[in-house]
Amino acid sequence: MNTSIPASLAAAAQAIDDLKKTIHYHSHRYYVLDNPELSDSEYDQLLRRLIDVETAYPSLITPDSPSQRVGGVPADGFERVAHLTPMFSLGNAFSAGELSSFDARVRSGLDIAEVEYVVELKIDGLAMNLVYENGRLTRGATRGDGTYGEDVTTNIRTIRSVPLVLQDEGGIPPLLEVRGEVYLPRREFDRLNALREKAGEALMANPRNAAAGSIRQLDPKITAERALDIFMHGLGTEEGLGVDTHSAMLEKLQLLGFKINPHYRLFNNIDDVAAYCESWAEKRVDLPYDIDGLVVKVNNLASQRALGSTAKDPRWAIAYKFPAEQGTTVVEDIFVRVGRTGALTPTAILRPVRLAGSTVSRATLHNADFIEEKDIRIGDTVIVHKAGEIIPEVISVITNRRTGSEVPFIMPATCPECDKPIVREPGEVAHKCVNPHCPALLREGLIHFVSRDAMNIDGLGPAVIASLLEAGLVQDAADLYSLKPEVLVALDRMGEKSANNLVAAIAASKEAGLARALFALGIRYVGAKASTILAQRYGDIDKLAEAGIEELMTIDEIGPKIAESAASYFADPDNLAYIEKLKATGIKLTEERKAAVSQELAGKTFVLTGTLSMARKEAEALISACGGKVSSAVSKKTSYVVAGTEAGSKLDKANELGITVLDEEQFRALVQKPQA
Ligand code: NAD
Repeated sequence: MNTSIPASLAAAAQAIDDLKKTIHYHSHRYYVLDNPELSDSEYDQLLRRLIDVETAYPSLITPDSPSQRVGGVPADGFERVAHLTPMFSLGNAFSAGELSSFDARVRSGLDIAEVEYVVELKIDGLAMNLVYENGRLTRGATRGDGTYGEDVTTNIRTIRSVPLVLQDEGGIPPLLEVRGEVYLPRREFDRLNALREKAGEALMANPRNAAAGSIRQLDPKITAERALDIFMHGLGTEEGLGVDTHSAMLEKLQLLGFKINPHYRLFNNIDDVAAYCESWAEKRVDLPYDIDGLVVKVNNLASQRALGSTAKDPRWAIAYKFPAEQGTTVVEDIFVRVGRTGALTPTAILRPVRLAGSTVSRATLHNADFIEEKDIRIGDTVIVHKAGEIIPEVISVITNRRTGSEVPFIMPATCPECDKPIVREPGEVAHKCVNPHCPALLREGLIHFVSRDAMNIDGLGPAVIASLLEAGLVQDAADLYSLKPEVLVALDRMGEKSANNLVAAIAASKEAGLARALFALGIRYVGAKASTILAQRYGDIDKLAEAGIEELMTIDEIGPKIAESAASYFADPDNLAYIEKLKATGIKLTEERKAAVSQELAGKTFVLTGTLSMARKEAEALISACGGKVSSAVSKKTSYVVAGTEAGSKLDKANELGITVLDEEQFRALVQKPQA
């Protein structure tokens, strides 16, 4: 998008006209059809561009501009109703700096040095306006254009957390217009989409659109079938509520029987506000519902009134938005990668796009079925998604951007690495190269061997591995252990220091222990968790190798697939010879057997939250090796919460319920206590 400000009035008028048309088209798809084509951040960028051009040429601002109006329009099929007090949208801040500018505007508007802010989660749902007369719900309406909304009272009544009658705790206000956000919890969203998939219906794009679609159903029975929920966060017209701050209002609403989101906090300076906002960027994945940012509000209601609003947004509140997780881009090419099992994974080469704070230029397309189901073609414009550490994924194709020149993808008939024929076994999703000597198998196997959850060898990335193979220095992973610095320095881009460090890192990995070494072997279906369980059970690779399939199947959490695969791996003389070669390098293929089923931890429930230095699967395996269980939600029944760095709401909940919280060190000490 062009971001420079047009040099003439005529050029600005043209730019504004174009932007208005585009924004109008996308608002209609979002607000009316519940079926957006753009990601929210792309839409926000268009709006921001419009505001920038209008700010430079204020004479071109018209009342119908999207910069001057709140969101959508009431849809046909529902009665149009006027809100008692208009509902607003929110201005956006995308960084701590923009929050500071907001704070400066607030302080100068109020002419005070210090402002108290209340910061709430910005629930990614649908704004709802509820009216209570003498304690009874008389109307529920969507926000619509801010002045008029759609009357969805019948549908709103089906949401269990909407009180139909208010609780009489210290007086019921005769009139109360209260605002909140209707949302669909993620689990419910997944459940609904699974049902749709079974029925062969189109899937819903995200929980926000699904919530909007569910509320705007002409048949309330359909709304009732979906477990919608609501958090209240604002006030319209009221009589007799008797509160003078936003936080007191939230407390009062709770007493009246409304559901309030528990994560609101009060702060006296904007730096703390910004830190709180930023702390949610990672933590939000732990929430059972989607948020798209936080909302910062001036807490004092008189100050809110003094600041007032623009045509569209209140001056006393702002939305802090997280970096974008979704964006649109173009699939420039599709290539296939051969993995360590020989499976071919098609990967999309994307026109680079910034998502969730990093530039994305590739996305996995999983397999041929995935490409076919989404009908992804080379040249297509697609919506891509990336969250945190997750590998970017193509969500959908924007088919109406097709020009006809897009090229469907065809899986190659021969392996791109060894040229041998590709096969697809009946019932398997993956196409595979079955040549046991395919160079890709060795390369990818080595990449897996040194990876973080396996032997965790720093400084041995794919490029170095490729050079080692090219130079013929290694034939298998065991050969890594005899590499010498003087040989390594001959490789491209390898200095003396890196060579020494690499040799030291390889040597250090000998102590990684049996669990990691087992995982590093890359036995089919034997992942990090199964490896830890097997290592704990046998303590020595030779004992494991002797255990047959029947014995392996008796182990809790070792299913028939894993048992069969492990047993057949250890039955192969080539593999046993390879293990002897690994042993000869000095790699530790034993493990102290730790906790086992001590009475102390049997049946205890653990919840993991935040980032731990060990892999999650490893932590889970240690817990199950002690007879404990892992649960995803904290409740009174939780025995321990293990909190890593940046632990989120689960930690808050644990503290609230008085549950024992362990840091990683305490956790290790507990589960790895030597066997009694
Ligand atoms: P907004 O969603 O950014 O902010 C205002 C809304 O936030 C309020 O109406 C309220 O419903 C909600 N909210 C959630 N928690 C809140 C809290 N604690 N306190 C106060 N309000 C809270 O603004 P908007 O005008 O509703 O819509 C713009 C949004 O819709 C943007 O995110 C925009 O990207 C998206 N949009 C996307 C497209 C698209 O094509 N993808 C098109 C139009 C709009």
